Amino acid sequence: MLEQINLLREKGQNELKSLTSTDQLPDWYHQYLGRKGDLTSFLKQLGTLSAEERPAVGKIINEVKQEFQQSFDLRQETLRESKLHEELEIDDLDVTLPGRPCTTGHLHLTTQTLRRIYQIFQEMGFQVYEAPEVETDEYNFQLLNIPEYHPARDMWDTFWVDDEVVLRTHTSPGQIWAMREYYPDPIRVILPGKCYRYEQITPRSEHQFYQVEGLTIGKNIRLTDLIGVMTEFAHKMYGEDRKVRIRGSYFPFTEPSIEIDMSCSCKDKADSGSGGCRLCKYTGWLEVAGAGMVHPVVLRNGGYDPEEWSGFAFGMGVERPALLKHNIDDIRYFYGNDLRFLQQF
Ligand SMILES: [Zn+2]
Repeated sequence: MLEQINLLREKGQNELKSLTSTDQLPDWYHQYLGRKGDLTSFLKQLGTLSAEERPAVGKIINEVKQEFQQSFDLRQETLRESKLHEELEIDDLDVTLPGRPCTTGHLHLTTQTLRRIYQIFQEMGFQVYEAPEVETDEYNFQLLNIPEYHPARDMWDTFWVDDEVVLRTHTSPGQIWAMREYYPDPIRVILPGKCYRYEQITPRSEHQFYQVEGLTIGKNIRLTDLIGVMTEFAHKMYGEDRKVRIRGSYFPFTEPSIEIDMSCSCKDKADSGSGGCRLCKYTGWLEVAGAGMVHPVVLRNGGYDPEEWSGFAFGMGVERPALLKHNIDDIRYFYGNDLRFLQQF
């Protein structure tokens, strides 16, 4: 019987080694280790042996059983691993396929335009000065030479918070803040920010919009300095080939006051009468900014003696240059939150 067990031991191990797939494992297990398998039948035959033989044979059967179990576990693991490798090779993963793109955001068109404006004025030595968006009647109007009942107030439809407090209608109150902070030093700042007007929303006007105000205060500052700075700005912002035109105007806080226009890209056609474009209403000229020499009353309100000091100020929209640059025909897109619009810039 010992001989038979040893033969089984050898046969079982050899067969186990010859198995090539995990599918064949259960059959082998049933045959050698199962409840009706060969080893079990040997165990059952133990009773037929003599009492002297029985312990030794029983011991051998148990050894073989343990041995088979260990070999089986090992073989099972090996076959599973090689199966996994095969599957990986079949379902080949193509790492060269492009992945799903991550959508990256970018700056809003208004912010991009603002930063371009900052950059141009920075190169000319201007600092950015931030002033409050919520203002008093005093700062928004009175100190800028627009007293109560002054007809110029009709130019601004205002969001009143209460009798004294307003959402600023323009960035000009920042002039007073800057002057009172920097006095008695010379000043060269731009004052960017949001402004609010109680206005009908149309393709050309929003009730909320950005402005950039500029202010310089110093000794012997003249109108020609203002024109030089604005010409430089128009060239940098829109191109060196732009011509600049100055028109007389009126603002309560500047004297004299001017409007700065620059030539539209359609100017030659508009001049010859053979065309033009909707942006400039076929005139060949586009408004860039309102400006002027700081009014003596405003200088005094800021703490500067107009006998000694002079300065210029200008103000421009931010959405409008962006409209011009990208041929956008409706200002309402800027705050519409429509990604199809925003993603274009
Ligand atoms: Zn034009």
